[in-house]
Amino acid sequence: MSRAYNFCAGPATLPEAVLRQAQEEMLDWRGTGMSVMEMSHRSDDFVAIAEAAEQDLRQLAGISDDYAVLFMQGGASSQFSTIPLNLLGDKGSADYVNTGIWSKKAIAEASRYADVNVVASAEANGFTSIPDQAVWQTGADAAYLHYTPNETIGGLEFDFVPDSGDVPLVADMSSTMLSRPLDVSKFGLIYAGAQKNIGPSGLVVVIIRKDLLGKARRETPTMMNYQVIADNGSMYNTPATYSWYLAGLVFKWLKAQGGVEAMAKINDRKARKLYDFIDGNDFYANPIEPRFRSWMNVPFTLAEDALNSEFLKGADARGLLNLKGHRSVGGMRASIYNAMPEAGVDALIDYMAEFAEEQA
Ligand SMILES: *Cc1c(COP(=O)(O)O)cnc(C)c1O
Repeated sequence: MSRAYNFCAGPATLPEAVLRQAQEEMLDWRGTGMSVMEMSHRSDDFVAIAEAAEQDLRQLAGISDDYAVLFMQGGASSQFSTIPLNLLGDKGSADYVNTGIWSKKAIAEASRYADVNVVASAEANGFTSIPDQAVWQTGADAAYLHYTPNETIGGLEFDFVPDSGDVPLVADMSSTMLSRPLDVSKFGLIYAGAQKNIGPSGLVVVIIRKDLLGKARRETPTMMNYQVIADNGSMYNTPATYSWYLAGLVFKWLKAQGGVEAMAKINDRKARKLYDFIDGNDFYANPIEPRFRSWMNVPFTLAEDALNSEFLKGADARGLLNLKGHRSVGGMRASIYNAMPEAGVDALIDYMAEFAEEQA
């Protein structure tokens, strides 16, 4: 059995080396006679696995001791409410940037708890460009500024980190985390659902500046209280142990690749190749303003929508899987996260070229 190239946006492809290691360790983790899945989260073995994962992530992303790293559950979506509950404090409003579907979901959820001030929206340009920060209408008394650095569905990505002044900057990095170097010190809180660039779904990694802990509203569910989770080393209840372990294997793999600096070079090359091909071929198109094109999620359309199913059929036959675009956008989308080998992008481009030629 050979592995296909899986272009799914999430759950997404994982490094083959990581899966093989997990397979080798599946039944008997290092002579313990049991699988990581079967271990007590309080056991020395699991605590060591968990701590190593955190340390490796801290090293990879350059996270200082000013920040707590939390391994929570409920995916990125649960953070849409966890964030306002914890960060509003005595303030009633929060600033949000609307750049697409994930921003909108975050805004809708925050609106249940706060007066949401949408400081800027890309809706007017069809979510193909990011409004310049000079025209953002920030609120006078916002508790934080939330944005989505990479819109996974639209393929729209910030090429700058917003300047939020003294207001804590909060970022949903689900689909861009660890794709390149990042200055964590610019952020109050970073969160990322694991199933794009980190590991299996369900797990969500939260990186929070420690001075933002301890401000949760009284009605905040205990399981959503960052202070409680931090005080208990993300083990207030049973954590997602196997996902945590796998994320740790991915972090080790990333370090072996040369860390995020090395990944940035590879990711830049992969994305550039694919966009250059799309731009150079009349049969394919991508609508995003070039400077805001996502490194991780590349949506594209064919010259005729009627050919979509034939394109997908041919792709499947070659082991190029899950290229169908999100139901809200249509067309195609190739997600090319860290774990997508460059050879996968090359194979996709070869197929796209051939398919276009057949139609000519
Ligand atoms: C996938 C994704 C989410 C949702 O993640 P879940 O784990 O399914 O809740 C949120 N934001 C962004 C940017 C995403 O890519």
